[in-house]
Amino acid sequence: MYNKKAYALGSKRSIIREIFEYSKVRAQEIGTDKVYDFSLGNPSVEPPKEVTETIKNLISTNNQTLLHGYTSAQGDLAVRTVISQNINSRFALNLTPNNIYMTCGAAASLSICLKAVMNEGEECIVFSPFFTEYRVFVENAGGKLVVSNPNFDTLQIDLEDFNSKITENTKAVIINSPNNPSGVVYSEEIILKVCSILEQKQAEFGHDIYLISDEPYRELVYGDVKVPYLMNYYKNTMVCYSYSKSLSLPGERIGYIAVNPDMNNSSEVYLAVCGAGRSLGYVCAPSLFQKVIEKCINAKVNIDAYKQNRDIIYNALTEYGFDCVKPDGAFYLFVKSPDGDAYSMYEKAKKHEILLVPCDDFGIKGYVRIAYCVDKKRIENSLDAFMKLAKDYSL
Ligand code: PLP
Repeated sequence: MYNKKAYALGSKRSIIREIFEYSKVRAQEIGTDKVYDFSLGNPSVEPPKEVTETIKNLISTNNQTLLHGYTSAQGDLAVRTVISQNINSRFALNLTPNNIYMTCGAAASLSICLKAVMNEGEECIVFSPFFTEYRVFVENAGGKLVVSNPNFDTLQIDLEDFNSKITENTKAVIINSPNNPSGVVYSEEIILKVCSILEQKQAEFGHDIYLISDEPYRELVYGDVKVPYLMNYYKNTMVCYSYSKSLSLPGERIGYIAVNPDMNNSSEVYLAVCGAGRSLGYVCAPSLFQKVIEKCINAKVNIDAYKQNRDIIYNALTEYGFDCVKPDGAFYLFVKSPDGDAYSMYEKAKKHEILLVPCDDFGIKGYVRIAYCVDKKRIENSLDAFMKLAKDYSL
């Protein structure tokens, strides 16, 4: 008999997958330009030229065996060196290559970090709204997911609620900023308070609580907005970084874990990361892309297009009467359903050929997500349909 839990996960209806299938069928019926699909968080900006040139150069080298060969389980020393130096120069820290573990993107990084620190039955706190896969990753590590509610006006962390959710069983806390699905960047003031609460609780309970910073959107911020680097605020921090969005390489599965050298028992935690990576089969991240990162450590995607899209869609929707917090980062707009029902908004929008993601599974009821990482034309062409949707609600 197969594993029932795995079957339940694999067979569970996924709304995003459903929308994706529907979008393809509908595009065939009425034309791609008439379907306003905002469901997927796939980057719409090209990878930097430097990256594509480096890939071309690498695949034309003579030593193809070396290029495509295994690296060490935790990643090639050269790329880990470059990454640690990059973090040190940006955030004034003292990492070495032995604090870095190369992974297949943030999903693998999170699964590994959770497995590395959590024991059966321990709790991991996440802040809603949160990336739905956290539940899968935490449960796979034997943990229990605990949801902390936000301040509903700002979607920032509600410190009182957070404080009340920490128990003797709390082992980890995941912070995702800029946030999927809200686009909110947690302010430095909030981060300072979160870290001070964690310090107090560690002292009270006499054990470590790990902060896991999930940062695939770190480089996607618009305007003069600071995204605090959590190692500078709290010692027991691990960073899950990904190049999926920062270099527009989501299908190539490349990222890393950084373990703070100043955390308690840092070397042991790093070895636990190596062990968790081994037990999950996440060893030797894609070799070619490790080498690409080594050579393109300072490359950046041009985020002007995302900012333009953010401005157009946010300004239009708020003008039509929709309620949403202005996102400072990532490429999502999180919109409150005017009647408080996410699914009915999804259905109503669909009638105007707008495809949105109802977000009840993200730990907060009554919101939909618009992924604005699409061609600007799609946004401009969709505005009439959004206006009609607002009229449906008499806004
Ligand atoms: N964490 C968040 C908040 C995400 O939005 C995503 C992907 O969209 C991931 C993790 C996984 O990213 P990756 O593609 O690097 O595995």
